[in-house]
Amino acid sequence: MEDLIILGSGCAGNTAAVYAARANLNPLVVAGHEPGGQLSLTTLVENFPGFPEGIQGPELVENIKKQAEHFGARYLHGTVIEADLSRRPFRLNVDGEWHEARALIVATGASARWLNLPNEQKLIGHGVSSCATCDGFFYRGKKIMVIGGGDSAMEEANFLTRFGQEVLLVHRRAEFRASKIMLERARENPKIQFLTNTVVEDVFDVSQNLVTGVRLRNLKTGETWEREVDGFFVAIGHIPNTAPFRGQMELDEDGYIVSKGGARTSVTGVFHAGDVQDRTYRQAITAAGAGCMAALEAERFLEGG
Ligand code: NAP
Repeated sequence: MEDLIILGSGCAGNTAAVYAARANLNPLVVAGHEPGGQLSLTTLVENFPGFPEGIQGPELVENIKKQAEHFGARYLHGTVIEADLSRRPFRLNVDGEWHEARALIVATGASARWLNLPNEQKLIGHGVSSCATCDGFFYRGKKIMVIGGGDSAMEEANFLTRFGQEVLLVHRRAEFRASKIMLERARENPKIQFLTNTVVEDVFDVSQNLVTGVRLRNLKTGETWEREVDGFFVAIGHIPNTAPFRGQMELDEDGYIVSKGGARTSVTGVFHAGDVQDRTYRQAITAAGAGCMAALEAERFLEGG
């Protein structure tokens, strides 16, 4: 039986582990299906305070893990496939093996939704990105493409006009899911062009390990053509990793954990940290802060019995 199990080894989970380990809670971290979380998929991170020259995403998250291990946190490779939060101790099925814990921090993150193009995953961090805030800066004066028709796509396209010489927004329909105000803002931005009823068939060029262009297809006419692109931003939503908790704690309609104030969830003794609850900020630094909050609350909860 563990005092504290932390689910997820991204910025939020690892930071929670640092704080919990320093509080002598001897936490067990279940690394999850994407160890290191979304930072492990990025390259240079330039906006995490404390690194004037920037730091590679995988290095940053690995450093936090080492820091947690230094204070006694233990890491278990695996993913929670089933959970029973109906009573304490909580029970978690990690790849077929059951574990018990008196308190739980859920920091399982949200995974970016991808288009699943043949070459998309191979070029992540080399021109393919799911985060304009993280990577926009690298495309100064370049040709940028944003995929999606929701608020995220509008927001990212607007943001990216600060950097790119052009931003082409590609959407599969003629109607947009984005709110009116966000759509209008994007339409009024002279640097943004819209391409509707259009999908991307693939992104190139894996042989150069760099995005150089895409192949597009008009869904109305069937016409296909290629276009030069340097930065390819996919903004078609995120999927919170909460499947094992469905019906176990309060989730919103998209599956994000509903916060009950601070790091509390609807289940006493279960705390949230990072993107699994946060659909607004989604930054490494906010996830780290949330991990700290969750650990402090878990500590208080365990002390109080
Ligand atoms: P979203 O509203 O679900 O929109 C996703 C968009 O991606 C849709 O236009 C969808 O097209 C498109 N899409 C999905 N799968 C696709 C695929 N396989 N190929 C091509 N296109 C695909 O997601 P979101 O924009 O990330 O927003 C999520 C939530 O956060 C929303 O509630 C939004 O209002 C909120 N948000 C708010 C702000 C803000 O207020 N500042 C900023 C960002 C997000 P279809 O329309 O054809 O389905």
